[in-house]
Amino acid sequence: MENKLTIYNTLSRKKELFEPINPPFVGLYVCGPTVYGDAHLGHARPAITFDLLFRYLKFIGYHVRYVRNITDVGHLVNDADEGEDKITKKARLEQLEPMEVVQFYTNRYHKNMEQLNTLPPSIEPHASGHIIEQQELIKQIIENGYAYESQGNIYFDVERYNQKYHYGKLSGRKIDELFANTRELSGQQEKRNPFDFALWKKATPEHIMRWPSPWGIGFPGWHLECSCMSQKYLGDTFDIHGGGLDLQFPHHECEIAQNVAAQGHESVKYWMHNNMVTINGQKMGKSLGNFITLDQLFAGDNNVLEQAYSPMTVRFFILQAHYRSPLDFSNEALKAAEKGYQRLIAAIAQLNRLKTSNENTVDVDTLKANCFEAMNDDLNTPILIAHLFDGVRMINSIAAGSEKINTENLETLKNLFHSFVFDILGLKGEDDSSASNQALGKVIDAMMNVRKTARANKDWATSDSIRDELKNAGIQIKDTKDGYEWSLE
Ligand code: ZN
Repeated sequence: MENKLTIYNTLSRKKELFEPINPPFVGLYVCGPTVYGDAHLGHARPAITFDLLFRYLKFIGYHVRYVRNITDVGHLVNDADEGEDKITKKARLEQLEPMEVVQFYTNRYHKNMEQLNTLPPSIEPHASGHIIEQQELIKQIIENGYAYESQGNIYFDVERYNQKYHYGKLSGRKIDELFANTRELSGQQEKRNPFDFALWKKATPEHIMRWPSPWGIGFPGWHLECSCMSQKYLGDTFDIHGGGLDLQFPHHECEIAQNVAAQGHESVKYWMHNNMVTINGQKMGKSLGNFITLDQLFAGDNNVLEQAYSPMTVRFFILQAHYRSPLDFSNEALKAAEKGYQRLIAAIAQLNRLKTSNENTVDVDTLKANCFEAMNDDLNTPILIAHLFDGVRMINSIAAGSEKINTENLETLKNLFHSFVFDILGLKGEDDSSASNQALGKVIDAMMNVRKTARANKDWATSDSIRDELKNAGIQIKDTKDGYEWSLE
């Protein structure tokens, strides 16, 4: 298929035609979670955004290596290289070995991701499994003159780097503004400049996650792992790096600086960032009392929630917004998404029961072209979903007999819905999954055929009992001029 996919590159601040470095192979790196707590609504958006990208790239024929890391060391409570390591803190509070914390929350994250029907990445490397590689990268940066040692810590020399390269090119920040905006924190006298960031931190005696290094016992800085692991698994240059907008600065800016300082050139061709989720117009945060974990969301177990929302409702809700737009969570919006999702799935069940005609009055080819056009336009899922609802209206009109479809077009329409709804958007039927729905449709057809024969034979007892049995099973039958329609009560 001709490639017309355009994606918005945060680096160039414009939409660009997607041209992989080494087609048909595509390298995709996405910053994964720091596993010290349950996954929340904020984790669902990048996971679904980049799952959509992964699915679509594969659908249009690329061989994608999707790497999403697990941060299990080095992510400090405070971004300015201050405070305790997040994992260590949790381990201390719960009296667990840090790797127990990591395993526990990694398992729970995987369960939530499976519920949301996100495909597992090709490789899921852990930061703690790449300490040697991170030390090698630090040595390279020191050798090239862009890092310095200070009291057992290694800091990246931002000012020195910025003399030759451009620190701030991704986020648009300027180094003199950073001077003004960086607060003075204790321990920062170790740094030449307050905005220098740690590549290696000296471990204090109570810090349990620690490794030997040429600079003493310590642990790597958070930004380093992504530079290191993306390079290890995708090479010195690769196609796409993704993550949430909140990671653009300092995390991704530091990643670029580290890669350039080590190898003299950038690694990433396209940077992609998903926007944030707000809750009733507010930023989500534990201190604001509006923090919702995915388990709470799926169970309806949080004061903010008026009801439970299924994983597919949440997925559909996220896909209804463009990934670069802000998305506000509210009960009203989630309930609307639930209805929309159910209408889409019901239409697919209806689609599988449509009867063909010799005549054809519908334009399936234009619908198909519109769907591809939406996805090729920087993954414009709200427009894609609007087109799919054009298709839903088409299905309902055909079912009602006001439009006709021939065999060939029906096949195309079925493939189109299957591809876009299930394969690309990654939605699936819940409880009444589409496969079981289809099987149910066949059983109902078989029973209705028996009923038809019974009625032809004036066997009213059998005919009535079939209708009653179906009703008892929660299936409503409505006679139409062409036959019948069924629905679940
Ligand atoms: Zn990262």
